[in-house]
Amino acid sequence: MKTVKDVNFNNKKVLVRVDFNVPLNDNLEVTDATRIEAAKPTIFNILESGGSCILLSHLGRPKGKEDKFSLRHIINRATKIFGVQVKFAEDCIGPAAEEAVSNLKPGEILLLENLRYYTEETEGDRDFAEKLSKLGDYYVNDAFGTAHRAHASTTVIAQFFPENKCFGMLLASEIENVKKILTDGQSPVTAIIGGAKVSSKITVIENILDTIDHLIIGGGMAFTFIKATGGNIGSSLVEDDKLDTALDILEKAKEKNVQVHLPVDVIAADSFSEFANTTNEPADAIPEGWLGLDSGPRSNEQFANVILKSKTILWNGPVGVFEMEKFAEGTIKLGEAIAEATANGAFSLVGGGDSVAAVQKFNLATHMSYVSTGGGAMLEMLEGKTLPGIQALLE
Ligand code: AMP
Repeated sequence: MKTVKDVNFNNKKVLVRVDFNVPLNDNLEVTDATRIEAAKPTIFNILESGGSCILLSHLGRPKGKEDKFSLRHIINRATKIFGVQVKFAEDCIGPAAEEAVSNLKPGEILLLENLRYYTEETEGDRDFAEKLSKLGDYYVNDAFGTAHRAHASTTVIAQFFPENKCFGMLLASEIENVKKILTDGQSPVTAIIGGAKVSSKITVIENILDTIDHLIIGGGMAFTFIKATGGNIGSSLVEDDKLDTALDILEKAKEKNVQVHLPVDVIAADSFSEFANTTNEPADAIPEGWLGLDSGPRSNEQFANVILKSKTILWNGPVGVFEMEKFAEGTIKLGEAIAEATANGAFSLVGGGDSVAAVQKFNLATHMSYVSTGGGAMLEMLEGKTLPGIQALLE
């Protein structure tokens, strides 16, 4: 994997596809700059090696040139973060972009306007990609969050740089860290798969069964497994068309010697609400009309015991409706157990679902070995897929 560290960028104008798709508030101010921060290592590397950066990104899903999706709104924040005045071009192709690029000097950063102002971007249009490619001497992809999309700036553009293309530091580190789970994981390897639905995680579970020793299944999806094995789940979330799939996964896990841990008790509620009445019930004997919204104390203890014995841990998806304080305890306890295992030397990766939001909400992110920056992209990597943005750099 060739990265920006392996290249001399002296006097080169480098097109860097970044993922600056950051949330903005009603005053159009950046509310979470994590994604801008994450691009620092790549950008600094290029500038220090004598190059200049032409940053390509999308922001949101604009319908035409809607001002609220203009990347102009992030210039101030990006300038503060990089410590260099970020210049801006009002368009990502055409005369405005060309002129800004021709004025760019080594050590400078130029941000081009939202790529998705052109539908050609998401359509993966070859001509649009070629126009973008003409702006720079070299192509770097550091946009992990969109690496699973075959868009013009993430994938199609790479063919115009047969020699002059490489991985950005963020993209490279996402790949290296997921490898530590999927291929190089030290045993015992434990995967915690939670979240709402089994259907969105089936391929992930099937792909990791060969690698892991323990599988903790939590959250809403656990109830499809519990019902499939004869439990009474009351009015909990269930996918009745996935009962056979759940049994099939349990059978495959057994064949591959993977120990499966389902919640033994839950916090059940009489409505899906922060104001609901709650009770602690066995996970397979939930009264009619009640729904399991969090893992219970006995489950939390059991999950923590497995985690503390693990050397490699993957966490994908919360084990309860953590957005509501009343049902956050299971997810917090789980995160704390992973933090403790990590402090004791285990490798932990959080990614591919709402568990990233959970570790951030409960201030656990810095206690994990690696927190992925890409939801959908990480999920597809865990599914064993080769992402088009990564493939394009290797061709
Ligand atoms: P995912 O994006 O697949 O990781 O799913 C995350 C969502 O699953 C979160 O919004 C949680 O609120 C939700 N969730 C977790 N546990 C449950 C549960 N027991 N019942 C309903 N939803 C749940």
